[in-house]
Amino acid sequence: MRHDRCLQCLSPLNTNAGWEALFSWKKPMLCDECQEKLRPLTAPWCVHCSRPLPVTESCGDCERWAKTKNWSGLLTRNVSLFLYDEHLQEVLSAYKYRGDVELAKMFADSLKQTYRKYFKKSIPVPIPLSEERLQERGFNQAAALAEYLPVAYKPLLMRRVDEAKQSKRSRHGRLRGHVRPFAVREDVKSLTGQHILLIDDIYTTGTTLRKAAIPLLHHGAGQVSALTVARS
Ligand SMILES: [Zn+2]
Ligand SMILES: [Zn+2]
Repeated sequence: MRHDRCLQCLSPLNTNAGWEALFSWKKPMLCDECQEKLRPLTAPWCVHCSRPLPVTESCGDCERWAKTKNWSGLLTRNVSLFLYDEHLQEVLSAYKYRGDVELAKMFADSLKQTYRKYFKKSIPVPIPLSEERLQERGFNQAAALAEYLPVAYKPLLMRRVDEAKQSKRSRHGRLRGHVRPFAVREDVKSLTGQHILLIDDIYTTGTTLRKAAIPLLHHGAGQVSALTVARS
């Protein structure tokens, strides 16, 4: 698919900028103005989840996770690239629902840099979609993002059943935290001592990522972290 217009505001992209125009993978997805509206996350922030803070420390939510039985220690750290504001929300939903895998490229440079800075030697694992959702959408946005990391990702996880539907069916189960939407694929050998890096588009409460960490840790992983595009 050709991208001659900004994904977000549809203004024409400047495609005659010398050499870059010859290399389609160098073409931007967003116009300069929309690109500049993205707000990269940097310190001071929460050392565990990237939430912006006045000073670098652990935020209240992460403190609570650390103190909650069955939830502490599941996720070592989440690093998000950008603040999930209204602008990024629009960019991400355009990406997800246009069914155009190539759009993940707009985050390629930031993903690579962040991987090298914080997660060298870890194994990227995209958060899977259920089969049903995958059919609907045509691609997994997390896997498309993971394509741009400097090392190959491994699809170690599977999603048992669509979580939203499962929790509707079993509201009781969900309230008690019994919904276990992820499992390690049957053909995966031991992960002993490995550092797994979950890849997803958004970190909201971090619940999904922690649920995904459970089977990986049971399978021997030494630690599980996350790299996400947006932090709400
Ligand atoms: Zn634009
Ligand atoms: Zn935090």
